[in-house]
Amino acid sequence: MKKYQIAVVNGDGIGHEIVPMAEQVLQAVAAKHDFSVESTTFPFGAGYYLEHGDFMAPDGLEILKGFDAILFGAVGLPAVDDTLPFKLFTNKVRTAFKQYVNYRPVKLLDGVKSPLGTKTQKDIDFVVVRENNEGEFVQNGRQMYPDEPFGFATDTSLFTRVGVERIAHYSFKLARKRRKKVTNVTKSNTMINTLAYWDRVIGEVAEQYPDVEYHKMYIDAATANFVLHPEYFDVVLTTNMLGDILSDLGGAIMGSLGFGPSGNLNPENTFPSMFEPIHGSAPDIAGRGVANPIGQIWSVAIMLDHLGEEQAATAIVKAINRTTAAGILTKDVGGSYSTQDIARAIIENL
Ligand code: ATP
Ligand code: MG
Repeated sequence: MKKYQIAVVNGDGIGHEIVPMAEQVLQAVAAKHDFSVESTTFPFGAGYYLEHGDFMAPDGLEILKGFDAILFGAVGLPAVDDTLPFKLFTNKVRTAFKQYVNYRPVKLLDGVKSPLGTKTQKDIDFVVVRENNEGEFVQNGRQMYPDEPFGFATDTSLFTRVGVERIAHYSFKLARKRRKKVTNVTKSNTMINTLAYWDRVIGEVAEQYPDVEYHKMYIDAATANFVLHPEYFDVVLTTNMLGDILSDLGGAIMGSLGFGPSGNLNPENTFPSMFEPIHGSAPDIAGRGVANPIGQIWSVAIMLDHLGEEQAATAIVKAINRTTAAGILTKDVGGSYSTQDIARAIIENL
């Protein structure tokens, strides 16, 4: 019997409530699909930072490296300034483990009404592929003389040929398994160096996939089209920052940020990949048992798919849909069920 070693990091806030639910679903699905999972929990995150002055143990990466995958909640506490080396946990793992793909499906679940009104399940079904290792988030910049009248600040984004080519190839290959359409969301009309280069390299890769439809769309138009014409999109290929913004919008059109799952993928499996919901630690609702655990549980399905357990992954997604179809929903989507109720129902529906 196949056995997987999973590192579990709850992080902060609602991470402590939703990650354990995802683990329960993981154990339940493993028992039904003939594999086993041994998980080891690590206390890393903003809470850890308050106690130890860093977001993870000094040998944290060394330890995490030995696992088959990482199941992660979210990092962040109001008491920790988020312009500090905040998020360091996520950024560190994503870059150190070459998780250059951030795979974020946007799909309306059964029985859930989108805030887009007339739009239905057949209209809302696409994937945001966010470049995850470079771009606007390389944190290369500085603040100079911040208190002086001549103060200034810079952040330089970085796009490498290698970095753009690999995310482009991933997106076109993914499109081949879907509706064969890639939309590059960009802003090269104003970012005339970085994003013009991004467009050029993606355009070159696109020529190697003549069977896949390729389009370019500016981010301003894309935000409007997410709301007005979500059915237009299949694979949305975009940069680190634009993808961050667009995937929250994606979560919103699915009905709640709490539904959005993601995989930080290292497609070559040279290091473990990491799976987390798209939302943050939601300190405003933490500790009340009302958080929506579906984004976290759906992330387990993406993890199993990545590990090659496709049937188990499909079983989880089906069980989630049966649960939402039955109206078993948390408060963020107008329901009155608790975090635990949702997980229990999903396990029953497996
Ligand atoms: P980050 O910077 O880490 O992305 P954030 O500041 O964007 O975090 P979130 O933690 O994502 O903020 O929360 C945004 C809003 O969405 C909050 O009002 C929060 O309560 C709500 N929210 C986020 N996740 C969930 C969830 N799983 N269930 C219910 N509500 C949620
Ligand atoms: Mg956010």
